[in-house]
Amino acid sequence: MTDLPIELDVLAVFAHPDDAELSVAGTLLKLKALGYRTGVCDLTLGEMGTRGTPELRAKEALDAAGILKLDARVNLEQPDGHVWLTEASRTAAVRVIRAHRPRVILTTHWDDPHPDHAATCRIVREAARLATMARYDAEGGQPAVKMPAIAHSLFSRLVVPSFIVDVSDFVADKMQAIRAHESQFYREESHEPTTRISDKGFLPEIEDRMRYYGSLIGVAAGEPFYVREALNVDDPVALLSRPMNIYS
Ligand SMILES: [Zn+2]
Repeated sequence: MTDLPIELDVLAVFAHPDDAELSVAGTLLKLKALGYRTGVCDLTLGEMGTRGTPELRAKEALDAAGILKLDARVNLEQPDGHVWLTEASRTAAVRVIRAHRPRVILTTHWDDPHPDHAATCRIVREAARLATMARYDAEGGQPAVKMPAIAHSLFSRLVVPSFIVDVSDFVADKMQAIRAHESQFYREESHEPTTRISDKGFLPEIEDRMRYYGSLIGVAAGEPFYVREALNVDDPVALLSRPMNIYS
């Protein structure tokens, strides 16, 4: 694990230090098991969080990175609660994309109700395109890249997934990575203020959602993604003869 500019196959870009774990940890673990190099870029240190401190959250993020077996984890130190699509945020994201040259980026969906999450999606989409233009941020001294594909992690019933990743073998490790952010979630002995995600029912809900999306493809657990662009399928028979659920 490093924050040096090593090449990655997949980079997950999310707003707060526990967002990648909550959203796509199963997929990151599966991709790692398949031999891909994986990384996470957090846009903020989570300093607006009701519970924990930035220092504690940075340590928790490193612990979680170890559980996820990430090759790299970086933080862009944008202002938590004030993540905006600005020239500075776009340039920071372009630099991270050019440093790690991911083939695929996983990020939030633009319709996320948390403004930081929605802004992260917009920053990522614009930065992925700008990173291909050699004269954008030429002063950064990094070569342009081929545009990475972008898959948006989903939660809303209003968005139909483009695909669902079977993460059945990775649920336990995903939940362990989430619980590494222990300042944020339910602990009986904690005296910190209660938040939506520190409620006792929040982590079981995350597992329930994985079971629900898994049920749509006939497996124990799944993580859903939306891709805005048309998917280029080489062999539709191989794709469509995989197990599916006709009641999905
Ligand atoms: Zn978040």
